[in-house]
Amino acid sequence: MHCPFCRHPDSRVVDSRTTDDGTAIRRRRQCPDCSRRFTTIETASLMVIKRSGVTEPFSRNKVIAGVRKACQGRPVTEDALAKLGQRVEEAVRATGSAELTTHDVGLAILGPLQELDLVAYLRFASVYRAFDSLEDFEAAITELREQREQGPPGQDHGSEGEGPAVPVPATAAD
Ligand SMILES: [Zn+2]
Repeated sequence: MHCPFCRHPDSRVVDSRTTDDGTAIRRRRQCPDCSRRFTTIETASLMVIKRSGVTEPFSRNKVIAGVRKACQGRPVTEDALAKLGQRVEEAVRATGSAELTTHDVGLAILGPLQELDLVAYLRFASVYRAFDSLEDFEAAITELREQREQGPPGQDHGSEGEGPAVPVPATAAD
């Protein structure tokens, strides 16, 4: 890239290191012409297109803030919120696409949130899926019941591979 001071068309990397959280590389560069130094940061591009059409960088903190709102008054710890944020970010990055919609991000939140707290899940889903009647809630609850009767979705819930004949309440959130 051009030197930001003198616009010289080239620069030399003098130092290169990964940031503490491992999501970016910081490079110290020097201009061969004016010898001044500057820093560039390289990250995997992940942009979110909002409903308004505005594009902004994906933010794990925004995901957590949205979920925290849905979890108000629920027994959900900050630690659990942070883990959920990490899972959501991993899931959306794993798609390999550089651009997502807010809808895609919401979809990635629903699964982990369902495992975390069902009431918070219903609150979040009611906004995300724009519930506007009791029937919408009833349909979502029926859906949840059916899923639970089929057993927990493939995560590490301890007693894997036994397939209980009687539905057992999930204990993961308690
Ligand atoms: Zn320069």
